Amino acid sequence: MIKGNFSDYKLSSELLKAISMLNFKSPTKVQGQVIPVVLERKDIIVKSQTGSGKTAAFAIPICELLDWDDNSPQALVITPTRELAIQVKEDIFNIGRFRRIKVCAIYGKSPIYNQERELRQKTHVVVGTPGRIIDLIERGTFDTSNIKYLVIDEADEMLNMGFIRDIETIISNLPNERVTMLLSATMPTDIEDLANEYMKEPIYVEIEDENKASDRIIQERYNVDEIDKKKLLIDITIVENPDSCLIFCNTQLMVDDVYSNLRNMRYTCEKIHGGMEQRDRLKVMNSFKKGNFRYLVATDVASRGIDIEDISLVINYDVPQDCENYVHRIGRTGRANKAGRAITFVTQREEKYLDDIHEYIGKEIPLKVRPKSEAVDNVKHEFTQKINTTPEIKEAKDAGLSKEIMKLHINAGKKTKMRPVDIVGTLCNIEGITAEDIGVINIVDISTFVEIFNNKGELALRVLQETPIKGRLRKVNKADK
Ligand code: AMP
Repeated sequence: MIKGNFSDYKLSSELLKAISMLNFKSPTKVQGQVIPVVLERKDIIVKSQTGSGKTAAFAIPICELLDWDDNSPQALVITPTRELAIQVKEDIFNIGRFRRIKVCAIYGKSPIYNQERELRQKTHVVVGTPGRIIDLIERGTFDTSNIKYLVIDEADEMLNMGFIRDIETIISNLPNERVTMLLSATMPTDIEDLANEYMKEPIYVEIEDENKASDRIIQERYNVDEIDKKKLLIDITIVENPDSCLIFCNTQLMVDDVYSNLRNMRYTCEKIHGGMEQRDRLKVMNSFKKGNFRYLVATDVASRGIDIEDISLVINYDVPQDCENYVHRIGRTGRANKAGRAITFVTQREEKYLDDIHEYIGKEIPLKVRPKSEAVDNVKHEFTQKINTTPEIKEAKDAGLSKEIMKLHINAGKKTKMRPVDIVGTLCNIEGITAEDIGVINIVDISTFVEIFNNKGELALRVLQETPIKGRLRKVNKADK
């Protein structure tokens, strides 16, 4: 039975508070089906699209079931990409915030030492990509002996990327006594085999996407010669004049080319592709999420799973050669049931891919006639005005949650033998602050970070200026997010 309210499930008040502050009013379909099953510790296979609320569907029951006092990792979420790992980590962290759930993300192309250091601390949930998970298991720094919950997210994508053997290697390192959740948009036989082999009488749920991305989004296409694409892009962006726009190209080279062209035309614009450093990719993605610039040129690294709200226009500068990628790309607009728009440029050479897409989505994308130069000139003024104004900064998903939470930085850490109990002890001695007001504590070499809930951050900050911690006055200030 699907419940209409989160409060109908037996969830702790800490979780309900976070859910409400994240502005989740009622469970989505997938959440309605998955939460009760996982709360009963049963294995589950979920066939559902991204954007359906599937992350919270597993994150909510996992955060509920975790034993806070247990220090070694109890849940492992495997994701195909680093970007998704980071996003899922943040989602779980937000949901488990008032239960003080510690979540660690581990992924490649990023210093392994930092991740090992994090894993040495109390960690409840690990989210990671297959290669790095295996590396850390082999180095003996990721202790999997206590894993009770395993999530295999975007299993079909994992298969496409050749990770299935890696998944098996990881599973062979986990205890048999565990709950396994497998999520996938499609169910190819390799994934069914994986489920049969490693899951115990799984419950199977399929979430029909009534309002499919491809139905919800207005799609159009333009025929164009390769040589004329740049001009068409400029014309279309002038006419559409979007608040935020994601432009997809098939190759890194093309991304670089389109990006420099837009930059030269003074567009507020960034780019993202697999050839860039992970740090830079993340920076660009976060900045785009905040709405710091309007145009992002990207390869398919930005097409999957990534949750950015309010992208008004997606442009396929090149036709994707894989039909699923088409649906993923256009699905970046029209999130959370909002209307969206997707425009595809088609050269003669690409028509064969377009035919495949038509067959895959079960309809023909309407062909449009490109705007005449007078039509472009007529609206150019508004376009120029918009690109010359700073975009409105978007509120982050967890803004409501973060408002009453303050993170403090204390200038002492492991090197001075600081322990969580020293922090909790000092804070609880402050009049008006109890253990309930203290969130996740992170102790690193020479610093400690502690979250203070319930709008008590200012009070803690003020009192700690003149209260010794572990026998000495410490420098305490607000931490950056
Ligand atoms: P996902 O399918 O996990 O990528 O989630 C898609 C988006 O829906 C994310 O931005 C979530 O924060 C949001 N979301 C998840 N569950 C709910 C809910 N019950 N109500 C409203 N939004 C939700």
